[in-house]
Amino acid sequence: MKRDSIRQPAPRPFRITWNIRLVIWATGAVAAAVAGVALISSLHSGRESSRWVDHTQQVLLLSTQLENNLLHAESVSRGYALTGDSRYSETFERVKADTMAGLDGLQAVVSDNPPQAQRLHALAALLQQRLSHLDKVVAAGHAHPDLVAALILNVEAQHIKKSIIDGLAAFRQVEQDLLQQRQQNAARAAAISIALAALTMVITLSCVVLATLLTVQDRNRLRMDRVQAKLQEVSRLNAIGQNAAMLAHEITQPITAAGTYLQAAARLIDSGQPASDVREAVVLSGKQIKRAGDVLERLRKYIVGGTGQTTVESMALLLEEAIELIALHREGLFITRDFKDDVPAVCVDRTHIEQVLINLMRNASQAMRQCERRVLGLAVTADGNNMVRVSVSDTGPGVPTQSAAALFEPAYSAKKGGMGVGLSICRTLVEAHGGRIWAEPNSGGGATFHFTVPAAKAAQSTDVGQAA
Ligand code: ADP
Repeated sequence: MKRDSIRQPAPRPFRITWNIRLVIWATGAVAAAVAGVALISSLHSGRESSRWVDHTQQVLLLSTQLENNLLHAESVSRGYALTGDSRYSETFERVKADTMAGLDGLQAVVSDNPPQAQRLHALAALLQQRLSHLDKVVAAGHAHPDLVAALILNVEAQHIKKSIIDGLAAFRQVEQDLLQQRQQNAARAAAISIALAALTMVITLSCVVLATLLTVQDRNRLRMDRVQAKLQEVSRLNAIGQNAAMLAHEITQPITAAGTYLQAAARLIDSGQPASDVREAVVLSGKQIKRAGDVLERLRKYIVGGTGQTTVESMALLLEEAIELIALHREGLFITRDFKDDVPAVCVDRTHIEQVLINLMRNASQAMRQCERRVLGLAVTADGNNMVRVSVSDTGPGVPTQSAAALFEPAYSAKKGGMGVGLSICRTLVEAHGGRIWAEPNSGGGATFHFTVPAAKAAQSTDVGQAA
């Protein structure tokens, strides 16, 4: 019977897993939301930048077309002046109209950029002048080559043309710078979007993995808790079972003996025997009932954690008392005693050690039941280290050396109907005194059970429970 096995489980530490999991979920959700908003705004600005890139490319295309149209108008006006072919003059009119329409289109596209709109406004005036100059060349036509030559070589007209070409080049340069800048913006926005998308994914994944890990950990812990609770329950039931077995084992003998004495008393009365004989049987029965009471009281104290008080005792006297208690002399045994004079008194819980002696002597007697030679040997010797050794030997079948240690385990029994708790109780009680117990086969057959307890000089008035 081990009191440890019925101890209550230690209070469990405060569990914070749920709080941690909530924090992780909340952090993950907030981080994912922030990253998500940043991602959306970055995507939006990326789309804006791309739109601006398209816009700038359109401006560049329109301005190039405008310049090409002007040059085309220049060349067809001269073609008409040189050849007089009316197809040139028709083409000139069409190209002139395209140029003006292109100018209007370009002005509409750059209306959101005031410096460029202003630049274009100045160029539009020059363009008008240049086109009206070309109109004059076409009007002079093939019939007035001198006038045409004068118009073409006109310095001011050449200057206007150069200003238009230079102005358009400067206009495009500005747009190209803008294009480069907007392309950089678009690339940066795309890079930020990718980084934020990756970040969102990492945060979300980390939170999911972490929360899953915690959930798995929690489930494992829960399973362990359940297993532990089950084990505790089993060990509690085991302890209850052992206590019940111990109780049954220890009180069966005195109660049975008391019953036997009372039956004997009844028979004595019936056969008209003297009252003194009847009295003796009744007194013996009373002693056994008192012993059962003592056993119950001791067990009660032991179970609730009480301790046995030790006293100084003579081991020889304890042995004699145990013999008397189980009426061993009536079993037809030959009992030998080897009690050395120099053996010191012992300091023990009297009831505990008497119980050990009774268990060992009863086992020996039972082992020899079928034997012809039935000798019970009792010996008390000094064992060194201030201990006293008690040996109970018999001439029974003996114990196999290999199972000698197993005999003391609870529930080990080779007897029909045996509970296998007697020797386990002996070991618990002897070890509670700081002693040890063991069995060995005798060389001439039979077994000897030895145990040691403290000599009185070594430990007086020890609290046995504390030694346990
Ligand atoms: P139980 O007597 O109920 O079987 P015990 O714990 O007292 O339980 O004994 C356990 C076993 O040890 C016995 O069944 C028996 O086989 C063996 N044993 C005990 N004492 C002796 C002995 N003196 N000689 C031989 N075997 C013994």
